[in-house]
Amino acid sequence: MLYWDYAAAAPPFEEVVQTMEQLMRLHYANPSSLHRAGLEAEGLIRRSREVCAVALAVLPQEIRFTSGATESNNLAIKGAALQYEGRGRHMVTTQVEHPSVYESCLQLQRRGWEISFVAPGSSGRVDPARLAAEIRKDTVLVSVMHVNNETGSIQPLEELGRQIKAANHLTLFHVDGVQGYGKLPVELNSWKADLYSLSAHKLRGPRGAGLLYVRDGVKLSPLLSGGSQEQGERAGTENVPAIVAAAKAVRMSGEQRSALTARLLPLRDRLLRFLEQLPELLLNSSMEGAPHIVHFSYPGMKGEVLARKLEELGMIVSTRSACSSRLAEPSRVLLAMGRDHAAATGGIRISLGDSHTEADIEALEQAVKKAVTSLKITEGGRI
Ligand code: PLP
Repeated sequence: MLYWDYAAAAPPFEEVVQTMEQLMRLHYANPSSLHRAGLEAEGLIRRSREVCAVALAVLPQEIRFTSGATESNNLAIKGAALQYEGRGRHMVTTQVEHPSVYESCLQLQRRGWEISFVAPGSSGRVDPARLAAEIRKDTVLVSVMHVNNETGSIQPLEELGRQIKAANHLTLFHVDGVQGYGKLPVELNSWKADLYSLSAHKLRGPRGAGLLYVRDGVKLSPLLSGGSQEQGERAGTENVPAIVAAAKAVRMSGEQRSALTARLLPLRDRLLRFLEQLPELLLNSSMEGAPHIVHFSYPGMKGEVLARKLEELGMIVSTRSACSSRLAEPSRVLLAMGRDHAAATGGIRISLGDSHTEADIEALEQAVKKAVTSLKITEGGRI
Protein backbone atom coordinates (compact mmCIF):
# COMPACT_ATOMS: atom_id res chain seq x y z
CA MET A 1 0.00 0.00 0.00
CA LEU A 2 1.25 3.50 -0.81
CA TYR A 3 -0.01 6.34 1.38
CA TRP A 4 -0.93 9.54 -0.50
CA ASP A 5 -2.80 11.41 2.24
CA TYR A 6 -0.04 13.50 3.87
CA ALA A 7 -2.23 16.62 3.78
CA ALA A 8 -4.72 14.86 6.10
CA ALA A 9 -2.09 13.47 8.48
CA ALA A 10 1.60 12.84 7.91
CA PRO A 11 3.41 9.91 9.55
CA PRO A 12 5.24 11.24 12.63
CA PHE A 13 9.00 11.71 12.82
CA GLU A 14 10.63 8.90 14.81
CA GLU A 15 11.88 11.58 17.27
CA VAL A 16 8.26 12.67 17.81
CA VAL A 17 7.15 9.14 18.70
CA GLN A 18 10.08 8.71 21.11
CA THR A 19 9.48 12.10 22.74
CA MET A 20 5.80 11.35 23.30
CA GLU A 21 6.57 7.98 24.83
CA GLN A 22 9.34 9.23 27.12
CA LEU A 23 7.46 12.29 28.31
CA MET A 24 4.28 10.34 29.06
CA ARG A 25 6.33 8.10 31.32
CA LEU A 26 8.54 10.75 32.91
CA HIS A 27 6.75 14.09 32.91
CA TYR A 28 3.22 13.38 34.03
CA ALA A 29 3.18 16.20 36.58
CA ASN A 30 0.81 19.13 36.12
CA PRO A 31 2.79 22.11 34.74
CA SER A 32 0.79 24.45 37.00
CA SER A 33 1.90 22.62 40.17
CA LEU A 34 4.49 24.40 42.26
CA HIS A 35 6.55 21.33 43.21
CA ARG A 36 9.70 20.36 41.39
CA ALA A 37 8.05 17.92 38.99
CA GLY A 38 5.48 20.55 38.04
CA LEU A 39 8.17 23.16 37.48
CA GLU A 40 10.07 20.73 35.28
CA ALA A 41 6.98 20.17 33.15
CA GLU A 42 6.46 23.94 32.96
CA GLY A 43 10.08 24.31 31.85
CA LEU A 44 9.46 21.86 29.01
CA ILE A 45 6.55 23.97 27.78
CA ARG A 46 8.65 27.13 28.07
CA ARG A 47 11.41 25.60 25.95
CA SER A 48 8.89 24.35 23.39
CA ARG A 49 7.47 27.86 23.12
CA GLU A 50 10.98 29.17 22.46
CA VAL A 51 11.56 26.51 19.79
CA CYS A 52 8.34 27.47 17.96
CA ALA A 53 9.13 31.18 18.33
CA VAL A 54 12.56 30.69 16.69
CA ALA A 55 10.99 28.64 13.86
CA LEU A 56 8.45 31.40 13.15
CA ALA A 57 10.83 34.31 13.91
CA VAL A 58 8.48 35.68 16.59
CA LEU A 59 8.61 36.12 20.38
CA PRO A 60 7.96 33.18 22.73
CA GLN A 61 5.15 35.05 24.49
CA GLU A 62 3.35 35.31 21.13
CA ILE A 63 2.80 31.51 20.94
CA ARG A 64 -0.33 29.82 22.40
CA PHE A 65 -0.45 26.02 22.37
CA THR A 66 -3.81 24.50 21.41
CA SER A 67 -5.33 21.11 20.58
CA GLY A 68 -4.84 21.68 16.84
CA ALA A 69 -5.63 24.10 14.08
CA THR A 70 -9.39 23.71 14.41
CA GLU A 71 -9.07 25.15 17.90
CA SER A 72 -6.51 27.77 16.80
CA ASN A 73 -8.82 28.99 14.02
CA ASN A 74 -11.86 29.05 16.33
CA LEU A 75 -9.87 30.94 18.97
CA ALA A 76 -8.52 33.45 16.44
CA ILE A 77 -11.93 34.23 14.91
CA LYS A 78 -14.35 33.95 17.82
CA GLY A 79 -11.78 35.13 20.39
CA ALA A 80 -11.20 38.29 18.32
CA ALA A 81 -14.95 38.70 17.73
CA LEU A 82 -15.69 38.64 21.47
CA GLN A 83 -12.73 40.85 22.35
CA TYR A 84 -13.17 43.54 19.69
CA GLU A 85 -16.94 43.69 19.29
CA GLY A 86 -16.70 47.34 20.31
CA ARG A 87 -14.85 48.10 17.05
CA GLY A 88 -17.57 46.61 14.88
CA ARG A 89 -19.26 43.39 13.86
CA HIS A 90 -17.88 42.71 10.39
CA MET A 91 -15.35 40.16 9.13
CA VAL A 92 -13.94 39.22 5.75
CA THR A 93 -12.90 35.75 4.66
CA THR A 94 -12.91 33.69 1.46
CA GLN A 95 -15.23 31.05 0.05
CA VAL A 96 -12.44 28.45 0.06
CA GLU A 97 -11.43 28.36 3.75
CA HIS A 98 -11.22 25.22 5.87
CA PRO A 99 -14.50 24.44 7.71
CA SER A 100 -12.94 25.51 11.03
CA VAL A 101 -12.72 29.06 9.65
CA TYR A 102 -15.79 28.96 7.41
CA GLU A 103 -18.15 27.51 10.03
CA SER A 104 -16.81 29.84 12.73
CA CYS A 105 -17.73 32.76 10.46
CA LEU A 106 -21.17 31.28 9.75
CA GLN A 107 -21.75 30.90 13.49
CA LEU A 108 -20.94 34.58 13.99
CA GLN A 109 -23.22 35.46 11.07
CA ARG A 110 -26.11 33.66 12.79
CA ARG A 111 -25.42 35.90 15.79
CA GLY A 112 -25.76 39.10 13.82
CA TRP A 113 -22.23 39.61 12.50
CA GLU A 114 -21.82 40.59 8.87
CA ILE A 115 -19.39 38.34 7.02
CA SER A 116 -18.07 39.01 3.51
CA PHE A 117 -17.11 35.72 1.83
CA VAL A 118 -14.82 36.70 -1.05
CA ALA A 119 -14.90 34.50 -4.18
CA PRO A 120 -11.58 33.28 -5.60
CA GLY A 121 -10.64 33.17 -9.29
CA SER A 122 -10.70 29.90 -11.24
CA SER A 123 -7.23 29.01 -9.86
CA GLY A 124 -8.48 29.30 -6.26
CA ARG A 125 -6.50 32.48 -5.56
CA VAL A 126 -8.23 35.56 -4.25
CA ASP A 127 -7.54 38.95 -5.77
CA PRO A 128 -6.11 41.20 -3.01
CA ALA A 129 -7.79 44.32 -4.41
CA ARG A 130 -11.14 42.55 -4.52
CA LEU A 131 -10.74 41.41 -0.91
CA ALA A 132 -9.49 44.78 0.31
CA ALA A 133 -12.53 46.44 -1.29
CA GLU A 134 -14.69 44.60 1.28
CA ILE A 135 -12.85 46.11 4.26
CA ARG A 136 -14.77 48.77 6.17
CA LYS A 137 -14.29 50.91 9.25
CA ASP A 138 -15.99 48.22 11.36
CA THR A 139 -14.03 45.22 9.96
CA VAL A 140 -12.56 43.47 12.99
CA LEU A 141 -10.71 40.67 11.21
CA VAL A 142 -9.77 39.17 7.85
CA SER A 143 -9.04 35.43 7.69
CA VAL A 144 -7.27 33.92 4.66
CA MET A 145 -5.48 30.59 4.44
CA HIS A 146 -1.90 30.20 3.17
CA VAL A 147 -2.43 27.03 1.09
CA ASN A 148 -5.77 25.48 0.24
CA ASN A 149 -6.15 22.01 1.74
CA GLU A 150 -8.11 20.63 -1.24
CA THR A 151 -6.33 22.09 -4.26
CA GLY A 152 -2.97 23.39 -2.95
CA SER A 153 -3.55 26.89 -4.34
CA ILE A 154 -1.41 29.53 -2.63
CA GLN A 155 -2.81 32.88 -1.53
CA PRO A 156 -0.84 36.10 -2.17
CA LEU A 157 -0.42 36.82 1.55
CA GLU A 158 2.12 39.62 1.31
CA GLU A 159 -0.03 41.66 -1.05
CA LEU A 160 -3.15 40.79 0.96
CA GLY A 161 -1.50 41.95 4.20
CA ARG A 162 -0.36 45.20 2.57
CA GLN A 163 -3.80 46.00 1.18
CA ILE A 164 -5.70 44.95 4.31
CA LYS A 165 -3.62 47.21 6.54
CA ALA A 166 -3.79 50.07 4.01
CA ALA A 167 -7.59 49.78 4.02
CA ASN A 168 -7.88 49.68 7.83
CA HIS A 169 -4.82 49.47 10.06
CA LEU A 170 -6.93 48.23 13.00
CA THR A 171 -8.28 45.20 11.10
CA LEU A 172 -6.58 42.02 12.32
CA PHE A 173 -5.14 39.64 9.72
CA HIS A 174 -5.44 35.92 10.54
CA VAL A 175 -3.67 33.32 8.41
CA ASP A 176 -4.51 29.62 8.56
CA GLY A 177 -1.01 28.33 7.88
CA VAL A 178 -1.68 24.60 8.24
CA GLN A 179 -0.91 23.44 4.70
CA GLY A 180 1.87 25.95 4.00
CA TYR A 181 4.29 25.48 6.88
CA GLY A 182 7.17 23.11 6.07
CA LYS A 183 6.50 23.44 2.33
CA LEU A 184 6.67 27.18 1.66
CA PRO A 185 8.49 30.11 3.30
CA VAL A 186 6.60 31.65 6.22
CA GLU A 187 7.02 35.44 6.58
CA LEU A 188 4.65 36.58 9.31
CA ASN A 189 6.15 40.07 9.39
CA SER A 190 6.01 40.70 5.64
CA TRP A 191 2.45 39.34 5.58
CA LYS A 192 1.57 41.71 8.46
CA ALA A 193 -0.15 38.71 10.07
CA ASP A 194 -1.53 39.27 13.57
CA LEU A 195 -2.69 35.67 14.07
CA TYR A 196 -1.36 32.45 12.51
CA SER A 197 -2.60 28.87 13.04
CA LEU A 198 -0.64 25.62 12.78
CA SER A 199 -1.45 21.96 13.30
CA ALA A 200 1.26 19.51 14.39
CA HIS A 201 0.04 16.37 12.67
CA LYS A 202 0.41 17.88 9.20
CA LEU A 203 4.09 18.46 10.03
CA ARG A 204 4.85 14.92 11.17
CA GLY A 205 4.04 15.83 14.77
CA PRO A 206 1.36 14.30 17.02
CA ARG A 207 -2.38 14.63 16.36
CA GLY A 208 -4.34 16.79 18.78
CA ALA A 209 -1.69 19.51 19.05
CA GLY A 210 -1.28 22.87 17.38
CA LEU A 211 -0.47 26.48 18.01
CA LEU A 212 -1.76 29.98 17.47
CA TYR A 213 0.63 32.89 17.02
CA VAL A 214 -0.88 36.03 18.56
CA ARG A 215 1.01 39.22 17.77
CA ASP A 216 2.09 41.14 20.90
CA GLY A 217 -0.61 43.64 21.81
CA VAL A 218 -3.46 41.63 20.27
CA LYS A 219 -5.88 40.23 22.85
CA LEU A 220 -8.28 37.31 22.44
CA SER A 221 -11.25 36.55 24.60
CA PRO A 222 -10.83 32.91 25.77
CA LEU A 223 -13.29 30.34 24.43
CA LEU A 224 -12.55 28.00 27.33
CA SER A 225 -13.05 29.42 30.80
CA GLY A 226 -10.87 28.09 33.58
CA GLY A 227 -7.25 28.48 34.65
CA SER A 228 -4.75 31.06 33.47
CA GLN A 229 -2.78 28.80 31.15
CA GLU A 230 -1.54 30.19 27.80
CA GLN A 231 -1.74 33.79 29.05
CA GLY A 232 -5.33 33.34 30.08
CA GLU A 233 -6.45 32.74 26.48
CA ARG A 234 -6.65 28.93 26.58
CA ALA A 235 -7.54 27.36 29.91
CA GLY A 236 -6.89 23.69 30.65
CA THR A 237 -3.98 21.54 31.80
CA GLU A 238 -1.38 21.47 29.03
CA ASN A 239 -0.69 18.26 27.11
CA VAL A 240 3.05 18.36 27.82
CA PRO A 241 4.15 15.38 25.66
CA ALA A 242 2.14 16.64 22.69
CA ILE A 243 3.41 20.22 23.09
CA VAL A 244 7.07 19.15 23.27
CA ALA A 245 6.65 16.73 20.35
CA ALA A 246 4.76 19.36 18.33
CA ALA A 247 7.56 21.88 18.87
CA LYS A 248 10.06 19.26 17.71
CA ALA A 249 8.00 18.69 14.54
CA VAL A 250 7.72 22.45 13.92
CA ARG A 251 11.52 22.79 14.24
CA MET A 252 12.36 19.72 12.14
CA SER A 253 9.88 20.36 9.34
CA GLY A 254 11.00 24.00 9.20
CA GLU A 255 14.65 22.93 8.93
CA GLN A 256 13.85 20.33 6.25
CA ARG A 257 11.57 22.57 4.20
CA SER A 258 13.94 23.40 1.34
CA ALA A 259 15.17 19.82 0.97
CA LEU A 260 11.61 18.45 1.06
CA THR A 261 10.34 20.96 -1.50
CA ALA A 262 13.27 20.22 -3.81
CA ARG A 263 12.34 16.54 -3.65
CA LEU A 264 8.57 17.00 -4.05
CA LEU A 265 8.45 19.53 -6.89
CA PRO A 266 9.74 17.24 -9.67
CA LEU A 267 7.46 14.43 -8.44
CA ARG A 268 4.44 16.72 -8.31
CA ASP A 269 5.23 18.19 -11.75
CA ARG A 270 5.59 14.73 -13.27
CA LEU A 271 2.24 13.68 -11.82
CA LEU A 272 0.54 16.86 -13.06
CA ARG A 273 1.97 16.36 -16.58
CA PHE A 274 0.71 12.76 -16.58
CA LEU A 275 -2.78 13.70 -15.39
CA GLU A 276 -2.99 16.57 -17.89
CA GLN A 277 -2.83 14.09 -20.76
CA LEU A 278 -5.73 11.92 -19.57
CA PRO A 279 -8.83 12.68 -21.59
CA GLU A 280 -11.87 14.00 -19.67
CA LEU A 281 -9.84 14.61 -16.54
CA LEU A 282 -10.03 18.08 -15.00
CA LEU A 283 -7.08 19.31 -12.99
CA ASN A 284 -7.92 21.45 -9.96
CA SER A 285 -4.25 22.02 -9.05
CA SER A 286 -1.41 23.57 -11.01
CA MET A 287 2.36 24.01 -11.00
CA GLU A 288 1.82 27.38 -9.30
CA GLY A 289 0.35 25.59 -6.27
CA ALA A 290 1.94 24.01 -3.20
CA PRO A 291 4.47 21.22 -3.86
CA HIS A 292 2.55 18.51 -2.01
CA ILE A 293 -1.07 18.67 -3.25
CA VAL A 294 -2.56 17.47 -6.55
CA HIS A 295 -6.33 17.44 -7.00
CA PHE A 296 -8.33 16.32 -10.01
CA SER A 297 -11.90 15.47 -10.98
CA TYR A 298 -13.39 13.15 -13.51
CA PRO A 299 -16.62 14.99 -14.15
CA GLY A 300 -19.47 12.59 -13.64
CA MET A 301 -17.42 9.97 -11.86
CA LYS A 302 -17.91 9.71 -8.11
CA GLY A 303 -14.74 10.53 -6.14
CA GLU A 304 -15.44 7.86 -3.51
CA VAL A 305 -15.79 5.17 -6.15
CA LEU A 306 -12.52 6.16 -7.80
CA ALA A 307 -10.81 6.37 -4.39
CA ARG A 308 -12.05 2.90 -3.48
CA LYS A 309 -10.83 1.49 -6.78
CA LEU A 310 -7.42 3.09 -6.23
CA GLU A 311 -7.28 1.56 -2.75
CA GLU A 312 -7.95 -1.88 -4.26
CA LEU A 313 -4.94 -1.15 -6.47
CA GLY A 314 -2.80 -0.32 -3.42
CA MET A 315 -3.08 3.51 -3.44
CA ILE A 316 -4.47 5.36 -0.41
CA VAL A 317 -5.82 8.72 -1.56
CA SER A 318 -8.60 10.99 -0.35
CA THR A 319 -11.50 12.61 -2.13
CA ARG A 320 -10.81 16.09 -0.72
CA SER A 321 -9.90 17.08 2.83
CA ALA A 322 -10.25 14.42 5.53
CA CYS A 323 -12.83 16.36 7.53
CA SER A 324 -15.13 16.84 4.52
CA SER A 325 -14.62 13.48 2.84
CA ARG A 326 -17.73 11.96 4.39
CA LEU A 327 -19.97 14.69 3.04
CA ALA A 328 -22.02 13.75 0.00
CA GLU A 329 -22.40 17.33 -1.24
CA PRO A 330 -20.14 18.78 -3.92
CA SER A 331 -16.98 20.48 -2.73
CA ARG A 332 -17.65 24.08 -1.67
CA VAL A 333 -14.06 24.93 -2.67
CA LEU A 334 -14.40 23.60 -6.23
CA LEU A 335 -17.79 25.27 -6.71
CA ALA A 336 -16.29 28.58 -5.56
CA MET A 337 -13.56 28.13 -8.20
CA GLY A 338 -16.29 27.92 -10.83
CA ARG A 339 -16.32 24.14 -11.35
CA ASP A 340 -19.71 22.69 -12.18
CA HIS A 341 -21.65 20.28 -9.96
CA ALA A 342 -20.32 17.17 -11.74
CA ALA A 343 -16.68 18.21 -11.36
CA ALA A 344 -17.19 19.35 -7.78
CA THR A 345 -18.79 16.09 -6.67
CA GLY A 346 -15.97 13.93 -5.50
CA GLY A 347 -12.64 14.35 -7.17
CA ILE A 348 -9.40 12.96 -5.86
CA ARG A 349 -6.74 14.59 -3.70
CA ILE A 350 -3.25 13.15 -3.78
CA SER A 351 -0.86 14.57 -1.22
CA LEU A 352 2.83 13.83 -1.26
CA GLY A 353 5.41 13.47 1.49
CA ASP A 354 9.06 12.77 2.09
CA SER A 355 8.72 8.99 1.62
CA HIS A 356 7.62 9.19 -2.03
CA THR A 357 9.91 8.32 -4.91
CA GLU A 358 9.76 8.49 -8.69
CA ALA A 359 8.92 4.76 -8.71
CA ASP A 360 5.94 5.45 -6.43
CA ILE A 361 4.68 8.14 -8.81
CA GLU A 362 5.04 5.71 -11.70
CA ALA A 363 3.01 3.10 -9.77
CA LEU A 364 0.37 5.71 -8.93
CA GLU A 365 0.09 6.78 -12.57
CA GLN A 366 -0.45 3.19 -13.65
CA ALA A 367 -3.07 2.70 -10.94
CA VAL A 368 -4.97 5.86 -11.94
CA LYS A 369 -5.00 4.73 -15.58
CA LYS A 370 -6.22 1.27 -14.62
CA ALA A 371 -8.86 2.54 -12.18
CA VAL A 372 -10.32 5.02 -14.65
CA THR A 373 -10.37 2.51 -17.49
CA SER A 374 -12.08 -0.18 -15.43
CA LEU A 375 -14.66 2.23 -14.00
CA LYS A 376 -15.44 3.54 -17.47
CA ILE A 377 -16.02 0.00 -18.74
CA THR A 378 -18.30 -0.97 -15.88
CA GLU A 379 -19.78 2.53 -15.69
CA GLY A 380 -19.87 1.70 -11.97
CA GLY A 381 -18.51 5.06 -11.00
CA ARG A 382 -20.89 7.14 -13.04
CA ILE A 383 -23.22 9.39 -11.13
N1 PLP B 1 -6.88 24.30 8.36
C1 PLP B 1 -6.48 23.60 7.29
C2 PLP B 1 -6.09 24.33 6.04
C3 PLP B 1 -6.42 22.19 7.35
O1 PLP B 1 -6.02 21.50 6.28
C4 PLP B 1 -6.81 21.55 8.55
C5 PLP B 1 -6.85 20.08 8.63
O2 PLP B 1 -7.16 19.39 7.67
C6 PLP B 1 -7.21 22.34 9.64
C7 PLP B 1 -7.24 23.70 9.51
C8 PLP B 1 -7.64 21.70 10.95
O3 PLP B 1 -6.53 21.17 11.61
P1 PLP B 1 -6.69 20.13 12.82
O4 PLP B 1 -6.88 18.81 12.17
O5 PLP B 1 -5.40 20.24 13.56
O6 PLP B 1 -7.84 20.55 13.63
